[in-house]
Amino acid sequence: MDAFSYVRPADVAEAVRAGGASDARYIGGGTNLLDLMKGNVERAGTLVDLTKLPLADVTPIDGGGVRIGALVRNSDLASHAEVRKRYPLLSAALLNGASQQLRNMATVGGNLMQRTRCHYFTDIGFAACNKRKPGSGCAAIGGFNRQHAILGASPSCIATNPSDMNVALAALEAVVRVQGPNGERRIAFEDFHRLPGDTPERDTNLAPGELITSIDLPANGFAAHWHYLKVRDRASFAFALVAVAAALDIDDAGTVRDARIALGGVAHKPWRARETEKQLIGKRLDADLLATAANAAVADAKPHRDNAFKMKLAPAAIVRATRIAGGLA
Ligand code: SF4
Repeated sequence: MDAFSYVRPADVAEAVRAGGASDARYIGGGTNLLDLMKGNVERAGTLVDLTKLPLADVTPIDGGGVRIGALVRNSDLASHAEVRKRYPLLSAALLNGASQQLRNMATVGGNLMQRTRCHYFTDIGFAACNKRKPGSGCAAIGGFNRQHAILGASPSCIATNPSDMNVALAALEAVVRVQGPNGERRIAFEDFHRLPGDTPERDTNLAPGELITSIDLPANGFAAHWHYLKVRDRASFAFALVAVAAALDIDDAGTVRDARIALGGVAHKPWRARETEKQLIGKRLDADLLATAANAAVADAKPHRDNAFKMKLAPAAIVRATRIAGGLA
């Protein structure tokens, strides 16, 4: 790890000033960034430690929603009484991520900023990685790509976003609040993470120096009909091969009024299965409808040598998660 300087600001304005330096990096729990710095994948001239900032609360907001401070620990959020009651999908997704020890350290803001676990990215012994070194190529295309994307990838990068929390936040249509050199702005969750295109080194649409201050959840947490399903190689402490956040609003007659289906493990960002959602809305759930709607999620997918199994796994996981959310299983 290279040498770096360290500052610990006491308020957001001071943090944003320090974070404006081109070689500065924000750090909360450090569970991802420090690993990457130790492996010389990431470098920082200055680490801006955020842990003294007053951003560790969960509070109500106008409209009936909830504001989650960027420094709330993953384990605290998962066990927060209001979150468990009103946003159980988010709580379940958090508990599917990492280990208890990591969840105790990791912050919500840091989870949003998690970098891919593509092993060609995290191991500098591989020269070709456009995300780590733009223009160097992509070792995963033509390499071992079992974990990689089948949707929204590009010839530059086929990495996936590793976060479980992000999949639930995509389904819940959260809003990310950020503070930067030019003031505050709100970013719809759909627009926060990026597809790789020809700039895979950029994971998010944050501008230089912008600091995540909170995440706002809308009032509707789909607490009556939800399920988070994570399919992985072992039962804990593993990243998703495919994950599904299913959230349904179903009327008394059994008709789906609203459907949110978000996928993890298949794309560079949490992936909303919009066509699947469209096919479910206005219908009563049954096996034929679910099978057809789930297959629509991978209609435009492009598998690689080692991950074609996701073409079947993703629809099967959607069917199972949606059946459980809808009370059919
Ligand atoms: Fe790098 Fe992306 Fe290719 Fe992985 S998939 S080697 S992160 S460019």
